[in-house]
Amino acid sequence: MITSSFKTTKSDEIFAAAQKLMPGGVSSPVRAFKSVGGQPIVFDRVQGAYAWDVDGNRYIDYIGTWGPAICGHAHPDVINAICEAAQKGTSFGAPCRLENVLAEMVIDAVPSIEMVRFVNSGTEACMSVLRLMRAFTGRDKLIKFEGCYHGHADMFLVKAGSGVATLGLPDSPGVPKSTTNNTLTAPFNNLEAVKALFDQNPGEIAGVILEPVVGNAGFIIPDGGFLAGLRELTRENGALLVFDEVMTGFRIAYGGAQERFGITPDLTTLGKIIGGGLPVGAYGGRRDVMEMVAPAGPMYQAGTLSGNPLAMTAGIKTLELLRQPGTYEQLDRITKRLSEGLLNIAKETGHAACGGQISGMFGFFFAEGPVHNYEDAKKSDLGKFSRFHRGMLQRGVYLAPSQFEAGFTSLAHTDADVDQTLAAAQEVMVSL
Ligand SMILES: *Cc1c(COP(=O)(O)O)cnc(C)c1O
Repeated sequence: MITSSFKTTKSDEIFAAAQKLMPGGVSSPVRAFKSVGGQPIVFDRVQGAYAWDVDGNRYIDYIGTWGPAICGHAHPDVINAICEAAQKGTSFGAPCRLENVLAEMVIDAVPSIEMVRFVNSGTEACMSVLRLMRAFTGRDKLIKFEGCYHGHADMFLVKAGSGVATLGLPDSPGVPKSTTNNTLTAPFNNLEAVKALFDQNPGEIAGVILEPVVGNAGFIIPDGGFLAGLRELTRENGALLVFDEVMTGFRIAYGGAQERFGITPDLTTLGKIIGGGLPVGAYGGRRDVMEMVAPAGPMYQAGTLSGNPLAMTAGIKTLELLRQPGTYEQLDRITKRLSEGLLNIAKETGHAACGGQISGMFGFFFAEGPVHNYEDAKKSDLGKFSRFHRGMLQRGVYLAPSQFEAGFTSLAHTDADVDQTLAAAQEVMVSL
């Protein structure tokens, strides 16, 4: 049932004012609901699996601030630890013991990471890791995959033309061709295309970066052999393999997608969950590569607020909660119920749909499928997704406002939340 009290008067008012103050009314574009249409919802507070907007509507939240809220929003242990840490100051600009604690936890958890550098966002982690790839190999070119997002640094704002591996063209004005002509792109799950790029650019490619499970083109799983194939190709060509686990780290498994799939990259980027809701990113990997980073080595990278005690505390508490027994089984069980439920309802109500989940990450496309890459994902019925999204919103379910974003559950999501979500989906799918 559409909640009879559902109205968005205050959200609309605040967003209208915001549009005069900030470009598009937001601090990050996807929040503006451009790809699904309609006005975005202005949040007032979040707790556990739920978000409340400024009009008092409650939503079951499947975004979880885009991943960090994996223990549930505002987990009391995390909030208490943050409050306690804040008493001792929010930023030192000097070494802090808590950095060692989180660094050890990350090194223990993530197979590829022997040393780590903390930064303040996923974007910063990815732009720094690219500098490191280039510094270590003495090569300038990189390979990325169409539909994979690695933050908004110039060199990554490139997608391929028509699914054919090609030289990069910038996606955004303000990105000079000179910054992206070293960015080569290939379709995800296409080893042949990657091999061709290595053959065409012998000795010039510093490395390959990818989301090992894609979340920024919708939810796309690597085909069997794809990650292993990349591991082999990079090794053969003296290039580095980099997993961007900003989204998948501590989500697909405690040790990330690399643990789950048993493929160890040379370098890894992290973000989202390791900050426990505060701004943190990190990059790490092989000791011999990481020792290039200043001041151990010559590759410069720095940050005024990096490794601050407040953010370290939120990360440490979140990882402590996650490493308790049974957490990933719980995430997997609840998310599987949700994902299978949605696909069944779509089938019963006559909609072409495909999708899946791993652990607390899921996605579905209004498309026949299967979806192996961004080209496949683009065949989705976007109009239908928009109507579905709005219908769910009106029934108290907050989904990512784009067909090309993965969804996230948390340890706070219950079977009752999933039941309520599926009941809403049933109503909406019938009406689409
Ligand atoms: C979110 C994300 C980023 C960027 O992180 P920010 O903290 O938003 O800068 C980079 N890579 C991946 C895979 C992401 O999901």
